Amino acid sequence: MVYQSFLIKYAEIGTKGKNRYLFEDALIHQIRNALKKVEGKFLASKESGRIYVQAQSSYDYDDVMEALRRVFGIAWICPVLQREDKDYESIKKTVLEYMDEVYPDKDYTFKVESRRADKEYPIHSEQINRDLGEAILQRFPQARVDVHRPDVLLRVEIRKVVNIYSQMIPGPGGMPVGTNGKAMLLLSGGIDSPVAGYMIAKRGVKIDAVYFHAPPYTSERAKQKVVDLAKLVAKYSGPIPLHIVNFTDIQLYLYEKCPHEELTILMRRYMMRIAERLARDTGGLALITGESIGQVASQTVQSLASTNEVCSMPVFRPLIGFDKQEIVDISQKIGTFETSIQPYEDCCTIFVAKHPVIKPNLERIRKSEESVREKLEEMAETAVQSAEMVWCD
Ligand code: ATP
Ligand code: MG
Repeated sequence: MVYQSFLIKYAEIGTKGKNRYLFEDALIHQIRNALKKVEGKFLASKESGRIYVQAQSSYDYDDVMEALRRVFGIAWICPVLQREDKDYESIKKTVLEYMDEVYPDKDYTFKVESRRADKEYPIHSEQINRDLGEAILQRFPQARVDVHRPDVLLRVEIRKVVNIYSQMIPGPGGMPVGTNGKAMLLLSGGIDSPVAGYMIAKRGVKIDAVYFHAPPYTSERAKQKVVDLAKLVAKYSGPIPLHIVNFTDIQLYLYEKCPHEELTILMRRYMMRIAERLARDTGGLALITGESIGQVASQTVQSLASTNEVCSMPVFRPLIGFDKQEIVDISQKIGTFETSIQPYEDCCTIFVAKHPVIKPNLERIRKSEESVREKLEEMAETAVQSAEMVWCD
């Protein structure tokens, strides 16, 4: 069946009332973005309080679905058969063709729900429901009517054109990206941070990302893996500017000057500081990490408190209460898992002490930092200034 149009239904509207149009406009913008990469010509627009994607050329159904199923803010996608011919007999004929093709197994219950938006149309919706129901029963004797809980709810709308649809394919939910400010994702090559970015983007937040690499201790391949992950997250969030910060000098300096068991925490504090600076420079309002309580030594509550205290921006940790398996499940669902488990090391693993502090004492950490602070301030500034930007789309 070739559908001329897709009706887009959204569920949650964060900005209600007068701001609703902002939400709708952002959604249309994101739909257009997503469809740019699909072969064919499409028109996404608002029409009498609804959002439609109109196909203006031939297209591949699966490609369109795949793209739309990634647009946050979409609750349901309904493929619509559209006919200009409003002749009553023609409508009946089309409805029967539709039912025949979409439901090859005729053993279903159904209900017809028609709407006559075009009030000039001579037949009332009650009558249309009855006539179409009867026609379906006659043609497919196995089908039965159930007005309370039908397997198939067939909608027929008489508008400027006739819309026929019954399928509702779930979208990803959430809110359109761009309706909720921007945040800086600390993106490593692991499983967690891409999932964290996905989850925050799902709430309508635009994503920038930062990756700290430490050549030659971390390889070009490790960096490429992060670029690949950013591109995978960008399939949902829209383009991600990925800032790549050279962290080698800072790591070496900390390694030389500070107690090794505190290295991880101290490095993480500098990552957060630099990420915050980059966020500020690029209009970001918050940071995002893939941390989850207790997952590793640097994610005990004490460690989190210690890395948190160097930031003044809010730090979003959407995975904070998740078990590893729950995070793995999401990463598989969104398609980042396979890339995340490629074996290239990220920068932390090289400098990890054999026995890192698990419950860092804040006072002691601050003290360790005191002597290196000034020099590191300078180095952090250099790192920010010399960051490379890769556009991930
Ligand atoms: P992930 O799976 O996201 O790599 P992880 O379990 O390896 O997380 P850590 O290495 O402790 O955990 O990192 C915690 C968080 O810190 C990551 O989720 C990420 O947000 C950030 N992070 C860690 N290393 C880097 C890095 N090299 N560049 C950017 N962010 C990083
Ligand atoms: Mg990691």
